[in-house]
Amino acid sequence: MHSHPPAGDLQSVDEYLAEISAAITPLAPRELSLADAEGARAAADITAGYALPPFDNSAMDGFAVLAADLAGASTERPVTLPVTGEVPAGDTREHRLEPGHCLRIMTGAPLPAGADAVVPVELTESGDGQVTFRAPVEPGGSVRLTGSDVRPGDLLLTAGTRIGPVELGLLAAAGHATVPARPRPRVAVIATGNELAEPGTPLARGQIWESNSTMLAAAARADGADAYRPAAVPDDKAKVLAMIEAELGHADLLITSGGVSMGGEHDVVKAALLEFGEVRFRKIAMQPGMPQGFGLLGGGRTPILTLPGNPVSAYISYLLFGRAALNALQGGPAARLEPTRIALAGPVRSPGGKRSFLRGVLSAGRTSVSPLTGQASHQLATLAKADALIIVPEEVTAMTAGELADVLFLHV
Ligand code: AMP
Ligand code: MG
Repeated sequence: MHSHPPAGDLQSVDEYLAEISAAITPLAPRELSLADAEGARAAADITAGYALPPFDNSAMDGFAVLAADLAGASTERPVTLPVTGEVPAGDTREHRLEPGHCLRIMTGAPLPAGADAVVPVELTESGDGQVTFRAPVEPGGSVRLTGSDVRPGDLLLTAGTRIGPVELGLLAAAGHATVPARPRPRVAVIATGNELAEPGTPLARGQIWESNSTMLAAAARADGADAYRPAAVPDDKAKVLAMIEAELGHADLLITSGGVSMGGEHDVVKAALLEFGEVRFRKIAMQPGMPQGFGLLGGGRTPILTLPGNPVSAYISYLLFGRAALNALQGGPAARLEPTRIALAGPVRSPGGKRSFLRGVLSAGRTSVSPLTGQASHQLATLAKADALIIVPEEVTAMTAGELADVLFLHV
């Protein structure tokens, strides 16, 4: 293992992440309908205004009884009670259980006044307007008490929580039609390149099918964004600028791919935005994904990330920097990589001065990780095989099998 100092003109991954998080202003909170709140982040602590359940109710289909009436019931000395009515869920009538009787009751139906327990139907024998019980029941048996789920004033959601399916369910259960939240960021993913053809159309000589915008938009949606892909733009400065200006009106974050490497006039995203100003292009001490640009555009100070075009570079750049930007837009905690230490099942190499992200496959139980062959940044199929990224630090150029490495899981 050899040590290399990070090269002087490269910005570190961590510094770049911090720069992105610090520069982005979170989206303003709004009162969102539950439908719109999916994937948003709560902008305030949400407390319960009501008890859940709002009334004592039956946990089972069965018979509402007074527990005292069944004291001493047994197989030898069963107790038989007349059934004086039926209480389905949603019944708004006022029922009253008289001692020495029982009422048929369904799951979720309000417990009638005078009853203090429910006996599940499968523990009873019914016949001709009466029911036989062969065991006693504790007071409160199979009864769900008012507030046993949520009490008024209980904290339902803390500010900053990502609102997922269960949070939405809880808000709905607690009677909320809306929630104050920072909305899902709208993300435009713009692919650039003369060589790009839309999947489903034939390839002319020299063309490839465009994959980055589909992949990155899906990744952003999985992270809680409303991401979409405008048509890919050819390598034409004016067209790139026109597309970026058009999308500034709709998007909270722009992500471009391609056109930012070192190829001079062919790198039109870089050329166009250098004229526009306000985007800083830099080299990040990482592999893949070294050429990156970030800035805030227009009156709305809309953040833009310009990612390199190679699909694997673009995806890993998104995982690091796109996610950090989304997180900042939603007012989440500053993004940090949270790797897990796992043993390498094979050796890896890495250029000095750069942090490498290598595709690997985890063992069952995630106890070791095997580096895959085919680590070039156009080799998207290897990324599809991988379920982990092995991180090799800047100062390390080789690691051997058995060494512990920092690993990011690609699937939760
Ligand atoms: P660039 O960053 O524009 O120099 O592109 C680097 C490599 O990535 C080239 O081989 C491009 O053809 C490829 N590439 C760029 N954009 C895309 C895209 N949207 N989908 C697939 N490959 C791309
Ligand atoms: Mg290009």
